[in-house]
Amino acid sequence: MEKFEQIFMHINGETEKREQANAQTYLESLLSTLESTLDNTFEWQVEGASKEDMRKAIQIAILKGMRKGSQPNHQMTPDTLGLLVGYFVEQFFEKELEEGIISVLDLAVGTGNLLYTVMNAMDNKISATGVEVDELLIRLAAATGDLIEQPVALYRQDSLEKMLVDPVDAVVCDLPVGYYPNEEVSLDYELCAKEGMSYAHHLFIEQAVNYTKDGGYLFFLIPANLFESEQAKQLHKYLKSHVWIQAVIQLPETMFSAKAHEKSILILQKQSKELKAPREVLLAKVPNMSNKQALAMFFEKVQMWKENK
Ligand code: SAM
Repeated sequence: MEKFEQIFMHINGETEKREQANAQTYLESLLSTLESTLDNTFEWQVEGASKEDMRKAIQIAILKGMRKGSQPNHQMTPDTLGLLVGYFVEQFFEKELEEGIISVLDLAVGTGNLLYTVMNAMDNKISATGVEVDELLIRLAAATGDLIEQPVALYRQDSLEKMLVDPVDAVVCDLPVGYYPNEEVSLDYELCAKEGMSYAHHLFIEQAVNYTKDGGYLFFLIPANLFESEQAKQLHKYLKSHVWIQAVIQLPETMFSAKAHEKSILILQKQSKELKAPREVLLAKVPNMSNKQALAMFFEKVQMWKENK
């Protein structure tokens, strides 16, 4: 049995016991199991387990809890997407990562799985901030962050309201999709809808740009049809005046359960007087992950684009 499976067995066994004994949901019991692991009131050991083993084990347990519950906003960014985002962060910050650390912000940090996948991929090179409105999810993110010893500051709040966060080098964010209910807060945004309710995912893009340093990069998981909605024209206009689109990466349909859930990766750079827009936007499609040859070609295409950028 692999190490992450051994960790999962310990955590899951205890979580199921607590779930029954305390009449709590699986996710609530998981949180108490993780917190007890941290304060040593629940002890277990898996010799030589890494941060990634720990993250993967917790990820499987959270997924199990989310499948059992029916909270529509309880979604986690899966590994495959996190690893791809991590790959692009590494490509865009190659020089900075060689020389030091970068600051990363996730405005919809949820369970932390996306952020921690990226942080583990560049271990000791990222200091991070995460913001999330859901109390249970952010507590799971906090416990996981402590267990895998990643430096992260977490804030529980609506990310579209004012935040006490310094501008960062990079944003990673799996955007929450839908309408944003707080119309008063939406009025502060250029992307506030002219009529009716604004799209949360549009406002999140604008807020992320607000908290990025000039010249910094933003890596979003966006709904694949982002540029097809009736508010897309307004979004285009906003992007044109504040950022440079670096890349739009389509993801394979097989990664998603339904067409409506399909996502793409959008990479932006906040405009800066000292820098120039890329010569060409990288438009690429990630092939099916099991096709090794096609995948190698995809990474080659990214490298070629990077060299001519
Ligand atoms: N990357 C996360 C992970 O790996 O667990 C999943 C992100 S999920 C697609 C979007 C998250 O945005 C949800 O956790 C949801 O609770 C959060 N969210 C939605 N609206 C929000 C808001 N206004 N402020 C802060 N978080 C919000």
